[in-house]
Amino acid sequence: MQAINPSRVNVNGGYICLWSHWKAAPLTEEGTEPETPGTKAELQTYMPQDSDESCMCGSEKPYEECCKKEQYWWPLCPDPELEGYSLVAPQSVTFRQIDGAALRKRLMEDDRLVFTDNSENQETWSYWGETLIETPGHGIVEYGELALKHNHTLLVTVASDEQRHVLLHFLKEIAGDLLSKPVHKYAPLQVFDKRTNKTQTLPPLQWLKRPVGQTE
Ligand SMILES: [Zn+2]
Repeated sequence: MQAINPSRVNVNGGYICLWSHWKAAPLTEEGTEPETPGTKAELQTYMPQDSDESCMCGSEKPYEECCKKEQYWWPLCPDPELEGYSLVAPQSVTFRQIDGAALRKRLMEDDRLVFTDNSENQETWSYWGETLIETPGHGIVEYGELALKHNHTLLVTVASDEQRHVLLHFLKEIAGDLLSKPVHKYAPLQVFDKRTNKTQTLPPLQWLKRPVGQTE
């Protein structure tokens, strides 16, 4: 993770924003396929917010009465197609006993996904959404990952509830008939202490007690 410069962060006002990017692989002499995305990178930025604006965490309260009071910086991440921001809530959804060959074909055919990795036991696609969003110098924003493991388990990994909502809707649309019963699981969350700027990992249940970003 890239460190935030503490001198640029106002303890009383704002958010840490996390961006996941695919940085394009440089062209080689043999000529890299333009589809090859390269490597995944994460970028942290600081987004200031005024006290009287409604809090970006989605609570609809003024920032002054909401996340400004918190001990931690709650990180945000961009929603698909950059339609706002959501609290980071790392999570996964698993579908077991699926027809891997049939699903792989559908995933390969869809333009909103890019095939990013192929190893012995796993194939991975990155969801870039309907409108590909490229940030100068950093790469293409991605909104979640699909991993097909051992040809019969699909693991969907996203950074927020909103990303999960969009990615599962997409999956239902292209492969609803192939999916099994999903198993949803939140992961621990990394937060930053406002006073010390040190990172701390909170277990899933601890941050789920917050009034926003609740599970469906
Ligand atoms: Zn808030």
